Amino acid sequence: MAKFLKRGEHILGVDIGGTKAMAMVLDHSFKCVGRAKKKMRCDKPGEKAEDRVIRAMRDALEDAGIEQVAGIGAGSPGPLDPDTGVIIDTPNLAWKNFPLAQTLSDAFGGIPCVIDNDVNMGTYGEWHFGEVKNCKNVVGIFPGTGIGGGLIIGGKMFRGFTGAAGEVGHMTVEPGGPYCGCGKRGCLEALASRVAIAAEVAALSARGDAPYIFENCGTDLGKIRSSTLAKAIQNGETMVEGVVRRAAYCVGVAVGNLINILSPEAVVLGGGLVEAMEALYLEEVERAVKEHAMPFLRKKVRVVPARLADDAVAMGGAMLIAEHLA
Ligand SMILES: [Zn+2]
Repeated sequence: MAKFLKRGEHILGVDIGGTKAMAMVLDHSFKCVGRAKKKMRCDKPGEKAEDRVIRAMRDALEDAGIEQVAGIGAGSPGPLDPDTGVIIDTPNLAWKNFPLAQTLSDAFGGIPCVIDNDVNMGTYGEWHFGEVKNCKNVVGIFPGTGIGGGLIIGGKMFRGFTGAAGEVGHMTVEPGGPYCGCGKRGCLEALASRVAIAAEVAALSARGDAPYIFENCGTDLGKIRSSTLAKAIQNGETMVEGVVRRAAYCVGVAVGNLINILSPEAVVLGGGLVEAMEALYLEEVERAVKEHAMPFLRKKVRVVPARLADDAVAMGGAMLIAEHLA
């Protein structure tokens, strides 16, 4: 790996999520030497989301036993502007036109700080530290509560004209299909996210067609997690399996479309659903790619599972700030 940091230098990689923030302290060789996690729920009067993030960062430094780092790279829910470091609007965290990069920088004595969309950072982390580090063109897709995507084109993060490119989850795959959280109909996310799967499985449970799910979650779709779906399938719930396979196939159709348009060398699939059911999930994606990507373009494309799990975003952030410092 190229050298970006001097020996003895440390950096902070941060993953800001809707429910928790995770910070990692990495040394000059990107080895994790300290980490900490904080729930984002503010439990003191007057406490703000950014205070929780900064506490996670300070705790990670304490865990590492060091006092200062050379820079910070943070992934956050968007939309945001990576050039100015400003969060445009993230209602979950009550951030609107909020200067996140400046705020984090100021909290640590004005050191450099870069931010980007969390899925971009996750793709960046997988690109540098996962199984696709020698590829110049990579598509990352992370199906979970929603479906996020990130694009590496020509060896660079691709942000497009507005800076917000890569919204794979809002690719229309069924015109007139079910409503999506974005207000449109028929988006990939509306058909294949964990929420979409859970809604269909909850209905199976209510009808008596998924006894394992009924016993463990009732019909509460909030309780139907990826790991529960995996266990139901292991317990022989064939209709649940059918729902998950169909959703994975839909993601595969989107992957096929992206292969036709971008011709990447590799597609990385991550997120809770893939982690819980890797073999089954990849099987459906590969089947869809075969049926929807053009033979010449899909030749040699590798579809690989993500390898960094919960560390991908923080590691991507660390890489981005290391490059920035260099
Ligand atoms: Zn949508």
